[in-house]
Amino acid sequence: MVTMIDKLGKARPRHPEKQKNPDSEILRKPDWLRVRAPGLGEYQNTAKLVKNLGLHTVCEEAACPNIGECWSKKHATMMILGDTCTRACAFCNVKTGKPGPIDIDEPKKVAEAVAQMGLSHIVITSVDRDDLDDGGALHFANTIQEIRKATPHTTIEVLTPDFLRKKNAVEIVIDAKPDVFNHNIETVPRLYLSIRPGARYYSSIRLLERVKERDACIFTKSGLMVGLGEDKQEVMQVMDDMVAAGVDFLTIGQYLQPTRKHAPIDRFVTPDEFKSLEVIAYSKGFHMVSSSPLTRSSHHAGDDFEKLRQNRMSAQK
Ligand code: SF4
Repeated sequence: MVTMIDKLGKARPRHPEKQKNPDSEILRKPDWLRVRAPGLGEYQNTAKLVKNLGLHTVCEEAACPNIGECWSKKHATMMILGDTCTRACAFCNVKTGKPGPIDIDEPKKVAEAVAQMGLSHIVITSVDRDDLDDGGALHFANTIQEIRKATPHTTIEVLTPDFLRKKNAVEIVIDAKPDVFNHNIETVPRLYLSIRPGARYYSSIRLLERVKERDACIFTKSGLMVGLGEDKQEVMQVMDDMVAAGVDFLTIGQYLQPTRKHAPIDRFVTPDEFKSLEVIAYSKGFHMVSSSPLTRSSHHAGDDFEKLRQNRMSAQK
């Protein structure tokens, strides 16, 4: 169990709502999921910069297996709106609970980090903020604006929550014109109640569709985790729903269980099966697909954005 010490010096579990869950054994990873431990050099520089500016990254908070590779290439995914999430998804390692107030200087700090790192592409994500009237949409928009001011040539990708029951929130983010609007579907509809209990499958699909309706120039992107107990037909149905909603880019990666209290892994999907899902997804009409055991929404996001742009241009010729 991961515990933290709160301001009153009391130990508090990182995921209080999960403490009632039975422990489930964490399966040993197959060779194709083994990664090198984070190193020194550029990795340390990225870590220092993030720490000095008081920023949060999903790379650390979600215990992403790619952190060694990404941070060594100065690629980090900034997590705005604090480090505490108001949802309790069964797959996610981000701390849950009652969040603190928003840091209104955070958009400027993120822009400063992007400038200092000299990034050509940045991914901004956030915790869920169901406690805020707009779900944090304006804070996303302010962050986009500050990055545009500081480094106008940096392309911006947002990976947003679902803004469930937050009227007009998604429109605020769309109108700030990110280059890529990503919202992860995460899993098949049958598993929503156990894996993503605070979310609604069709609201998430509708959010992606809304982005295209309002601004067709913005690229849309969404992701799925596999290995949670879904079957292939269900994954193909989600692909169809995404294509119907105009999603340009699909990512598919292996679910990894963060702690014994999280949802157990049903199975490890093999690299060949990932390849087969990639072929199927392209045949369904996505402009870009990344499907591999270690694929994550923001893995290689900059390079993939360039490919996506070219693929869409070729398709329009
Ligand atoms: S894949 Fe994304 S979340 Fe993981 S380390 Fe890389 S940038 Fe961070």
